[in-house]
Amino acid sequence: PLRAARTGPLPADHPLAWLDGAAERRSRAGLTRRTVPRPPSEGLLDLAGNDYLGLMRHPRVVEAAAEAARTWGAGSGGSRLVTGDTELHGELERELAAFHGSEAALVFSSGYTANLAMVTALAAPTADEAEPPLVVCDQYNHASLIDATRLAKAAGSRVTVFPHGDADRAAGLLSGGAGRRLLLSDTVFSVDGDLTDVSSLAEVARTHRAALLLDDAHGLGVVGPGGRGAAGADLGGADDVVVSVTLSKSLGAQGGAVLGSRRVIRHLVETARTFVFDTGLAPAAAGAALAALRVLRAEPERAEAVRSRARELSEGLRARGLSASAPDAAVVSVLAPSPEAAVDWRAACLADGVRVGCFRPPSVPDGRSRLRLTASATLDNTDIRRVLDVITTNRPG
Ligand code: PMP
Repeated sequence: PLRAARTGPLPADHPLAWLDGAAERRSRAGLTRRTVPRPPSEGLLDLAGNDYLGLMRHPRVVEAAAEAARTWGAGSGGSRLVTGDTELHGELERELAAFHGSEAALVFSSGYTANLAMVTALAAPTADEAEPPLVVCDQYNHASLIDATRLAKAAGSRVTVFPHGDADRAAGLLSGGAGRRLLLSDTVFSVDGDLTDVSSLAEVARTHRAALLLDDAHGLGVVGPGGRGAAGADLGGADDVVVSVTLSKSLGAQGGAVLGSRRVIRHLVETARTFVFDTGLAPAAAGAALAALRVLRAEPERAEAVRSRARELSEGLRARGLSASAPDAAVVSVLAPSPEAAVDWRAACLADGVRVGCFRPPSVPDGRSRLRLTASATLDNTDIRRVLDVITTNRPG
């Protein structure tokens, strides 16, 4: 029977009594988190989300989601290998691959599960390998890549980490051992928004006969010609490079994809656990992502617009004496004097109608608390001025 929720502490012998202590420790460390529902429309300038191209509410994208749900149902009803596959999934995969310049693509229910698939399926040792594979990772890789390498490690692979962006150190780590090697990095790093030197990593990977695995979640739709992403321009068709993307940022939908050679995609279909055992991407998300991709192809200037908006934000903030990063993609960070100041600054901006993100340790190193702004192609000159004014007026102390 369902019992009423207890308000006081749980008895010490309750199997979940430890949760109160854990919550208390997080609270003391300032790490309390909570979800905050967003009303459908709130008249805010939103620089905290990842809808970089303004496609999340684009009428064609929203209608494509509705149409896909009407045609195929609200859910996909099962794994892609059972009943969850539709023509729409195949169409999205073909168009994603063609846009990126890759031979093939495979979509997943999220970018997170796409990353788990890409890394575990390619990095886990196979029965006939005498030496375990070696996975060499950038220190600041996204949590989903970190979790993926933990799974690879549990399966018997070796995992090592190089200092952020240091291709020479990556080369040093790749030169040891006799087993096969993989080099794993984000392209655009989500917290600082910096773009790694993809061509140096590619060169290092080739020199050491390593497969290059890149997470281009924040690059797709923003960087590269027409928004093809950091890896799409000259590496997209390479058969020793595999790229993951999300459908939930520039494409304004939900889901993820892995792009690579047919050989790689076939291996994922047959072995990746987050493909085989996960319910297929919902038709509405597939339809929305496909429509968004078509808008991006027809209007490639959206990718250029988001980059120039990010530069304008950064330059405007610097001109006002603030310490803003020079953006490589859509993200601009503005340093705050302390974690508390960052929280108050964000709250004051929100009260003035501008939503920005806020990062504190341990998400960022000590002394690097900041506001995080994501530009969108839909911001106009008046919006940019308003953002700059609100951030500057509310600056700490
Ligand atoms: N990789 C990176 C770099 C990300 O920022 C994110 C999203 N936060 C993901 C992967 C996961 O993508 P998704 O949200 O679609 O699961």
